[in-house]
Amino acid sequence: MISVTEALDLIKRETTALPKTSIPLEESNGYYLAEPIIAPMSLPPFRQSAMDGYAFRHGDVTELEVIGECKAGDAHEFELQANQAVRIFTGARVPDQADTVIIQEHVEVKGKMISIQKLPAKSANVRKIGEQVPAGEQVLAEGLKITESIIGFLAGFGITEVLVFNKPKITLIVTGNELQEPGRPLNPGAIYESNAIMLKSALISRGFDSVRILKVQDDLESTKRVISLGLESDVLLISGGISVGDYDFVNEALKANGAKEIFYKVNQKPGKPIWFGKKGETLIFALPGNPASSLTCFLIYALSALQIMSGNVNYDLDFSTGVLRHSTTNKFGKTLFILGTEQDGQLDIYPKQASSMLISYALGNALILIPEEKEVLEAGERLSYLPINRN
Ligand code: AMP
Ligand code: MG
Repeated sequence: MISVTEALDLIKRETTALPKTSIPLEESNGYYLAEPIIAPMSLPPFRQSAMDGYAFRHGDVTELEVIGECKAGDAHEFELQANQAVRIFTGARVPDQADTVIIQEHVEVKGKMISIQKLPAKSANVRKIGEQVPAGEQVLAEGLKITESIIGFLAGFGITEVLVFNKPKITLIVTGNELQEPGRPLNPGAIYESNAIMLKSALISRGFDSVRILKVQDDLESTKRVISLGLESDVLLISGGISVGDYDFVNEALKANGAKEIFYKVNQKPGKPIWFGKKGETLIFALPGNPASSLTCFLIYALSALQIMSGNVNYDLDFSTGVLRHSTTNKFGKTLFILGTEQDGQLDIYPKQASSMLISYALGNALILIPEEKEVLEAGERLSYLPINRN
C-alpha cells in the first residue's frame, strides 16, 4: 500500500492546470492569473496633487497671486507665471509650471493673494507620473491568485478583462441505499445523508462553485450510468461504495467506464480505501463514505488536485507545526489524521476519533498528522497540522 506522500506525489504528477480563459475582471476574484500583467499606462498618469492647497513654483516670493482653481477631474491648462499660484485639490492635475503644492493650512489668504507661512520642501505634495508604476513595467507575475486588492489595482489601469486558468467543473456522486434526505423522520435502518452538503460547502468556500450533485443507489448498472455522466466534468468526486463490501459497486463501475486506476488504498487512517484515477483529462477521486474519511481525503487529496488544476501549480498542503501537550500512541503503522485543537502552538487531541464520527471535526481547529513510523509520541513532540475551520 502506498504512503500519503506517495499518493500526493502521484496526484501532482497526474494533474495539470486547466486551459486559460479570458474573464471579466469583476468575476476574477480567487482565480489564478494565466499571464503576467504589464502596466498599460503609468500610474499616476499625470502629476497629481496629494493635498488640498496651492500649486506654485518653489523659489518664488512668499506672496503669490492666485490665478485660478483646479479640482480633481478638471482638464484645463494653466500657464503659471512667476509669483503666481493655483488653488488646487487632492487628485487634481498640477499645472506644468508648478513644482510644489503647499497645504492650505500653511498659507494665509488675503483676497486674491496668499502668503506662505511655512515653506514646504521643493516637490512636496506632488505625485510624480509613474511614481506608483511606470508604463511598461511588469507588475504582477503569472500564477498569482487574484484577490480584491489585485482587482482594485488592475481596475486602476482601466483593465476590464484578465486571462486566468479555468476553474474545474465538478460532479459529486453520492452512493448509498441507506441515505435519506432531511425533512422526514428517518426510515428504519436509514441515516441522514451528510457528505454531499459537507463537501459542496467545502468546495464553495474555496471558490469552486461549479458543483453538480448526483445521487445513486447501491446498484451496479445505476452506478455505471451516473459515473458516465460524471465523467463529463473536469473532476469527479464519488462518496462511498469504494470499499470491498458486496454492495460497493464504484470500483467496478469505474472500470466499466474505462477509468484508469492510479492508486487504490493509502496507508492512512481514516480514509484508507481512497481510489484515484483518470479517464481522459477527467480526474476521479472515489472517497470513502464514512464522513470523517470523506472529508479527510477531500482535504488532503482532492483539494490538492483542484488547486493545481486552477493554476495554483506549486500548491502544497500548508502544514503548520505545533507541540503535543499530552503523550499518545500510534499502534497502526499508518499515517493518522486526528482532530484536535491548537492554541498558541500547543496541540490537544480529542478523545473521539473515528472515521464514522464528525463530532471532533466539527469542534476542532487542527487536523493533526501523526507519521506512520511513530509508535509512541511523548508530550512536547512537534507535529504537523493543517489549520481547519478557521474562516
Ligand atoms: P461506504 O463507504 O459506502 O461503505 O460507507 C461507509 C459508511 O459511511 C457507512 O456507514 C455509510 O452509511 C456511511 N456513509 C456513506 N455515505 C454517506 C453519506 N453521504 N452521508 C453520511 N454517511 C454516509
Ligand atoms: Mg455504501
